[in-house]
Amino acid sequence: MPASTAPRLLDGQARGALQRARSLAIEELIEIIERSGLRGRGGAGYPFAEKLRAVRRNAQGGDVYLVANGYDADPGSPLARTLLTRNGANVVHGISIAAHAIGATQVYLYLHPEAIEARAAAERAIGEMAAELGVPIEIALGPGGFMGGEESALLAVLESRRAMARQRPPYPAAQGLRLRPTLVSSVETLGILGTSRLDTRLDFDDLRVAGTHMGSAQVRAIAAGTCIVNEAATLFAYLAKENCAICVPCRVGTKRVTAILESTYSGLGRDSDIAWLDELGTHMERFSLCGFGITAPSILRTTMREFPDDYRIHIQEKRCPEGACKPIRSRRYETMVQP
Ligand code: SF4
Repeated sequence: MPASTAPRLLDGQARGALQRARSLAIEELIEIIERSGLRGRGGAGYPFAEKLRAVRRNAQGGDVYLVANGYDADPGSPLARTLLTRNGANVVHGISIAAHAIGATQVYLYLHPEAIEARAAAERAIGEMAAELGVPIEIALGPGGFMGGEESALLAVLESRRAMARQRPPYPAAQGLRLRPTLVSSVETLGILGTSRLDTRLDFDDLRVAGTHMGSAQVRAIAAGTCIVNEAATLFAYLAKENCAICVPCRVGTKRVTAILESTYSGLGRDSDIAWLDELGTHMERFSLCGFGITAPSILRTTMREFPDDYRIHIQEKRCPEGACKPIRSRRYETMVQP
């Protein structure tokens, strides 16, 4: 949720920023945000000012919701929790500014059920600032698991339904929570950069040129001696477990990719596996229903591009280049004809 950034756009101190935001005409406020170049931190990098305008356009006098997604579904990426715990007041003021910009009638701060410290910090900040927020902010807890943080799945959770993604359009800015215009800011995705890309700026466009994406802006250092094929298999196993299983490309694709990667590091790889992984990745990117499946293959793309020798040595020489892998499969898992 870029809400925590909003106070900085408006002269630093959170409290002063909220007062200044309220003193401006709404379009003037949105123009300031637009000039700043602020983009959503959910991975797609959508210009935040455009999101604000879209919600306002669709409001037409009825209820408007803001969902501040602090769910932190990515493993090892407690970004929202850290922000809330360390500077809850700043985040709550940022939420309040965004709520003011769209004319929100209700705000939900959506958190992971295990984020106990962050929840306490948020409750404290909301309690201390209740008089000045101008809109009710309710803390809502997701169900746990990765999918609970996906944009459309979290709206389902807030409507007391199961955390499953739905097809878009309509986007939440037009029909979100309770079919009313809703601003949802968040989402996370893993991006793996090889060491040769460490000079890449942490910026939406630069990362796209480098062949990856911002995700939740998490940068993960992988220790020397880690087998990258094994690492990719572990990440895909997590995705295979956490997807909501609605659409076939993601549900089957994550399982198939996991099985091939596990076979590869168990010494059962074939030369055709690289092309097969590439094709599975392309299907997932093209036909998955939500960002979960669409962005999952970036794990494959980046590891195969940056660490081709790790794959080659596993497949052709039947050994782990790092001496780290222990075989976990004695035969390949195959349910269909592979190329
Ligand atoms: S891409 Fe994955 S997580 Fe998203 S709807 Fe399809 S199965 Fe569910």
